[in-house]
Amino acid sequence: MNRSDVIIVGSGINALVAAAILAKSGKKVLICERNNVPGGAIKTVTDATLPGFTHELLSSWHPLFVGGPAYAELKSDLEAQGLVYKNTQKPTGVVCQGGSAILSTDLAATAAEFARLGDGEAWTAMLNEFLGKIDLAFGLLGADLWRANSLKLLRTARKRFGNRGLVATGAELLEPASPWLDRTFTSPVSKALLAPWALHNGLGPDDASSAFITKVIGAAVALGGMPVPVGGGIKLVDALLGIIKNHGGEILTNADVVKINVSGGRATGVRLADGREFIAAKSVIASSTPQGLYEGLLKGEDLPIETTKAADAFRYGRAAIQIHLALSEPPVWKADAGLKDVAIVHVLDGMNSLSESVNAANRGYLPSRPTIVVGQPTSVDPSRAPEGKFILWLQLQENPQKILGDLAGEIAAGDGTWNDERLNAYADRVIDQLSEQITNLREATLAKVVLGPKQIEDMNKNLVGGDPYAGDCRIDQYAVWRPLASATGHKTPIKDLWHIGASTHPGPGLGGGSGYLVAKRLTKKKFLRR
Ligand SMILES: Cc1cc2nc3c(=O)[nH]c(=O)nc-3n(C[C@H](O)[C@H](O)[C@H](O)COP(=O)(O)OP(=O)(O)OC[C@H]3O[C@@H](n4cnc5c(N)ncnc54)[C@H](O)[C@@H]3O)c2cc1C
Repeated sequence: MNRSDVIIVGSGINALVAAAILAKSGKKVLICERNNVPGGAIKTVTDATLPGFTHELLSSWHPLFVGGPAYAELKSDLEAQGLVYKNTQKPTGVVCQGGSAILSTDLAATAAEFARLGDGEAWTAMLNEFLGKIDLAFGLLGADLWRANSLKLLRTARKRFGNRGLVATGAELLEPASPWLDRTFTSPVSKALLAPWALHNGLGPDDASSAFITKVIGAAVALGGMPVPVGGGIKLVDALLGIIKNHGGEILTNADVVKINVSGGRATGVRLADGREFIAAKSVIASSTPQGLYEGLLKGEDLPIETTKAADAFRYGRAAIQIHLALSEPPVWKADAGLKDVAIVHVLDGMNSLSESVNAANRGYLPSRPTIVVGQPTSVDPSRAPEGKFILWLQLQENPQKILGDLAGEIAAGDGTWNDERLNAYADRVIDQLSEQITNLREATLAKVVLGPKQIEDMNKNLVGGDPYAGDCRIDQYAVWRPLASATGHKTPIKDLWHIGASTHPGPGLGGGSGYLVAKRLTKKKFLRR
């Protein structure tokens, strides 16, 4: 097969969503993936620790996908392919210096939890106010911001809030989480329950827009829980590929695209590292970073200077570290035994340690008391471990790409790289800190795998420097400014070439948003044909 309608570079969630929608619409689709397995940052494996334990080496939690438009459109096809989601009533919790708390999808239980902390009225008022705008908030995060119908959102907002209200909403969208949390809640536990969620969109509590993101994610998990596919994310990848293949699409793995062919200003196909060439009759869609696209795949093409300058200046954010543990039994949480049933528990000292750790990492320093994201996949999908056993998915997001020093003064920066010695020393710090809260952690650990920034980038070249979000998500690189301040959304200066993936709007996560938006655009019937 060397001629398709659409060629897609990469096989992450956005590429697979785009391919499934395009294939269903009758387009002949070819996906080229440089790795030997598809899925990008979805990497489910059964051989990381011990037999019988299934780990998500990278992404694990699917609320964005299940709550998004791609799932709504493909749900019945995915189910026909055997995809089953499991959910939990206890999506998130926290253990901090002030105590612990659990947020539930049972709204009455969550209201009671905040009331116990002295913040019942504050939580209910916040949630009700936000629910009054939730259509606009999710609309803003899901819309193709360069299409006329995104103006509908603006018109709806203006009608609802008036001109002055609209301006005030703009300020609300930009507020950092820390002043909002301090103003709204009294308990340090309430604040620590919500604040770390900004990390999951690449932000810290002092960054612009982190209050908005915290409200969006807080409301989304309170209403939608924390779904995961039974058997792991690979089941979603397999189901999407099943749809694609059933509709005549194809995927090539070990297919490293090194060049997007351009003729007469139009994308006409791709060339692989092994010399094979494929023709795209209608479009090429690239799931890449801006530098990967403009300085790699389009190298040598005639591109506007403002595009190449902006692509060159695109920044990457803090690095991620993942620690995977196979446990002989469920964790025993000191603060509250019920925390073992919670999907994601954040362990941190409090708002100040969160702020300090994010800023330390931004400035090149290892935090002394990092925020530990403790994922407990077995609490939602027990099939991930043998009967009675358990896994932990530990994530650290406050890591510098290059180490300049250590706030704790224990780990020498050396040449600044994350070599095994520094990575393992830092992982030991994390395990020590977590052992303060999980009393049986050391005895119950049967096996451990630590993945640092280098290993994460090696698995997926779009995760530059180990940045899990393929680009800094602060406001100047978000929304209309993602992927580039000078780009008009997913369109590129080359005709019939589209840019998708986490480096583009609506950003990272398993929503598949950019793939969905581009596929909808390419399958839209032209007015006259309609
Ligand atoms: C450690 C970690 C944990 C995360 N946890 C979660 C989570 O729990 N929930 C959540 O919603 N999000 C999570 N995320 C974020 C989310 O996984 C990513 O934002 C999302 O998967 C990115 O999807 P994508 O479509 O941009 O493609 P990617 O997943 O980045 O995949 C891109 C693919 O393109 C391929 N590719 C690139 N260039 C070429 C080329 N030239 N030729 C051929 N192939 C190419 C790459 O090999 C890769 O397979 C996490 C991310 C990481 C790294």
